[in-house]
Amino acid sequence: MNHRPKIVIIGAGFGGLFAARKLKNQPVDVLLIDKRNFHTFTPLIYQVATCALDPSDVAHPVRSIFRKQQHITFLMGEVTNIDYDARTIEVDNEGERRHESYDYLIVATGNTPTYFGNDDFRPFSFELNTLDDAVRLRNHLLKLFERAAWTADLEKRKPLTTIVVVGGGSTGLETAGAIYELYNHVLQREFPRAKLRTRVILIEMLPHLIASYPENLREAARKQLESLGVEVRLNTKVVDVATDHVVLGDDTIIPTHTLVWAAGVQASTLAKMLHVDLTKAGRIPIHPTTEVKGRQNIFAIGDIAYLEDQNGNAYPMLIPVAQQQGELAAENILRRIRGEAPADFEYDDRGTMVTIGRYRAVAWIYNRVPLTGLIAWFAWLGLHIVTLIGFRNRLNVLLNWAWDYLLYDRSVRIILEREKPRQQTLQSQDE
Ligand SMILES: Cc1cc2nc3c(=O)[nH]c(=O)nc-3n(C[C@H](O)[C@H](O)[C@H](O)COP(=O)(O)OP(=O)(O)OC[C@H]3O[C@@H](n4cnc5c(N)ncnc54)[C@H](O)[C@@H]3O)c2cc1C
Repeated sequence: MNHRPKIVIIGAGFGGLFAARKLKNQPVDVLLIDKRNFHTFTPLIYQVATCALDPSDVAHPVRSIFRKQQHITFLMGEVTNIDYDARTIEVDNEGERRHESYDYLIVATGNTPTYFGNDDFRPFSFELNTLDDAVRLRNHLLKLFERAAWTADLEKRKPLTTIVVVGGGSTGLETAGAIYELYNHVLQREFPRAKLRTRVILIEMLPHLIASYPENLREAARKQLESLGVEVRLNTKVVDVATDHVVLGDDTIIPTHTLVWAAGVQASTLAKMLHVDLTKAGRIPIHPTTEVKGRQNIFAIGDIAYLEDQNGNAYPMLIPVAQQQGELAAENILRRIRGEAPADFEYDDRGTMVTIGRYRAVAWIYNRVPLTGLIAWFAWLGLHIVTLIGFRNRLNVLLNWAWDYLLYDRSVRIILEREKPRQQTLQSQDE
């Protein structure tokens, strides 16, 4: 009997999706598993949180991507166990469990936020890792603004209109800039009598922002952020958080109901299921072929995987790394099936960019050409439109951006549901 090799891919993010795409029209059976039924375009999550885009603009149903490929099937469920000896995995869907066998396994479950040992901050924090996080933050920000308009008491207003963003990486910068614009340029105009001026404070532990960029671009980013109105505090740590304030390392107390945590990530906890020695950030060490060290026929790619370049630096947790490793893992599995030698990972690094609100951005093209301001912003705009998945999404995003940027408006400002109270919501004031 002719056995078609079965490849199971866990995670339909950037790595998993590109691995599955590489396996199109190949003589293998592919099972792609994700706990969500959609792929998320993470670079624009913060725009959902700040009312510029609708969740469906930055998400794409996985089934529709592979509907013409009979041999690629999708299963929505959370992988809860990997038995690498028996070559099976356990998948859970709302308590219902099933087991799937594999010949080759690709692990691509990404990352999860870390609080660097300060896990007591978590209940008071808003994260920005998933679309659910973004909608939760959006509801919270809009509700705060409405609540602030209710009260004339300035002391009560302060924590309502002060937002603290922790983390000077690209997500922190983009989020801080976008919240500032939402509050001060969009909502403010609609509450003219309430005079709700907002403070957005960006906290970074290091002496600079966006650590992976050269010094001149780090400085350009800080200046652009400050020229927008965001307060930037470098060399500063958050040491305590409560419902209505944040305490900094220099004992400053900032009255606020909103702490956005964009300070760090670690590998998805699924890494532990392989029972290999993980790195400090919980990543799985892989060979340059993307195969997991010490585990046969299991490949790990993207944020969950750890591989160093020739200079001993770890490949960063970035989309192009995940995509290129995804393609390589799939290619190496096909090579093994054909009895050929596997290839090693060679990163095609085209650089990085970050936007800081309207007309402000920095870009480090091919890690050689620095761009700042308007030109970097247009480059950012163009790249994100081109790389979005799905024509409908591209069109929607383009229309929304044209509307937002030309009219200084934000199209998606609907408070959809009353959230379950979190510790940092306005519960105490409601009582
Ligand atoms: C807010 C934000 C902004 C970012 N901006 C940029 C940017 O501008 N440029 C850039 O290069 N990178 C950016 N990144 C980083 C980029 O998103 C990651 O490097 C990339 O997504 C990694 O791809 P991946 O395939 O490893 O994981 P992901 O794309 O995160 O995919 C992981 C998938 O696994 C699924 N999953 C997790 N656990 C399980 C489980 N147990 N069972 C089943 N499924 C599971 C998840 O639902 C998810 O779909 C950003 C990240 C975030 C959070």
